[in-house]
Amino acid sequence: MIERNQTSRQPVVVGQVPMEIVSRSRRNRNRLLLLIILAVSAIFIWKNIWPNEQSELENTPAQPITDLHPIVLAKQEELIAATKKIGISILITDGFRSHEEQDALYAQGRTAEGNVVTQVKGGNSYHNYGLAIDFALRTKKDKVVWDMTYDGNGNGESDWMEVVSIAKGLGFTWGGDWENFPDYPHLQMDFGYTIRQLKSGLRPPAE
Ligand SMILES: [Zn+2]
Repeated sequence: MIERNQTSRQPVVVGQVPMEIVSRSRRNRNRLLLLIILAVSAIFIWKNIWPNEQSELENTPAQPITDLHPIVLAKQEELIAATKKIGISILITDGFRSHEEQDALYAQGRTAEGNVVTQVKGGNSYHNYGLAIDFALRTKKDKVVWDMTYDGNGNGESDWMEVVSIAKGLGFTWGGDWENFPDYPHLQMDFGYTIRQLKSGLRPPAE
């Protein structure tokens, strides 16, 4: 018992002397830490209030997109004209989509009412970069349909697939060719850019 008491008392008695040194160095360390925190927050505040020119330049390529890419827009017009020539009227139901709109669409059929229409959240669709369009067919009675068997021009071919074929000739890739979750109304031009690259701020040239 005595032995145990001695050992348990020992660290306390012996520890009292070095404790002062320990607490002094700890106080110094705390003061240094405080200084570092102050310096870091000063830099942070300074950077946020006065963003320097360089960071503005860096942000330029990642400017938010608000419309279709000019080439995609031109090809969309060509598609409308070319399909009209063979007696098919198409309606472009969607083009550029903001991240917020994409998120709302993603919620559809999941957390919101409706059918699931997309597999990707905001930022992950080519629509979010103005590089995709969706189409539908307009019947003679001015009804909008997504009927892939509809043959409005009566040439024995599916109007839908005729549109797809013309679109491919114009350089679009068709969502209907995707193995996982084919997207039949979807046409896109990625210009060789991956979603990852687009997300990082890279943009296909306008010409
Ligand atoms: Zn689409």
